[in-house]
Amino acid sequence: MRVMKFGGTSVGDPDRIGTLCDIVAAQANTRPVVVVSAASRVTDMLLKAVQHAVATGQADDAALVARVTGLLAAFDLPRDLIAAELDGLHEALEHVAAARAATDADTDRVASYGERISVRTVAAVMRARGLEAEAVDAFDAGMLTDDHFGAAEPLPQSEPTLRATLEAYRARGVVPVVTGFIGKTLDGRVTTLGRGGSDYSAALVGAALDADEIEIWTDVPGVMSADPRVVPEAHTIDCLSFAEA
Ligand code: ASP
Ligand code: MG
Repeated sequence: MRVMKFGGTSVGDPDRIGTLCDIVAAQANTRPVVVVSAASRVTDMLLKAVQHAVATGQADDAALVARVTGLLAAFDLPRDLIAAELDGLHEALEHVAAARAATDADTDRVASYGERISVRTVAAVMRARGLEAEAVDAFDAGMLTDDHFGAAEPLPQSEPTLRATLEAYRARGVVPVVTGFIGKTLDGRVTTLGRGGSDYSAALVGAALDADEIEIWTDVPGVMSADPRVVPEAHTIDCLSFAEA
């Protein structure tokens, strides 16, 4: 089986989400597990909202809500799908605003909502296109971590639980769409694995499931010989060894 991970730009606009659904649908018979990031810019917006709440005492999530509900609206999907997450996010920001301070745990709690909203959006679009898919918060599937907020590491007991939980989705013929980036401590506090951590999540899920392949999908044609903004004749490289990379 394979794990297919899609990053922020791949879930960042309606066209890309459509492409993602086509790519996954083409593999549906192999029952993949999908891991996704927050839509592009959303994690940055969440972290800015934390800073703003500390600086001003205001929980301002208007721009964020507009960004994420805009994606749902583009597919005629109801905001209800993410209502609980939007409430949870607002509450987390209110908490920071009232304290005029954010612990690393507070920051992780807020930052987690990008992925929690993203999986619900992507799974709903898949279902609207006839693909059996369900959103999964990684911590509900067993992604347990230490309490190093902002750069948490998985606990060894995550592996068997992730495997059992995600295999159960596959056995039902459902594509689990799992949050990258986030986990929870043993005492139930949300953690993040560090910026860009969704690739790491995909690797952890792949290892837990003993996957044949972990695919990190991206939306550029490949690795280039140089930065094309600097070197106009730069070209994509057909094949690159790990050592060369
Ligand atoms: N959304 C997180 C970030 O922006 C994780 C990721 O995209 O891999 O860092
Ligand atoms: Mg990345």
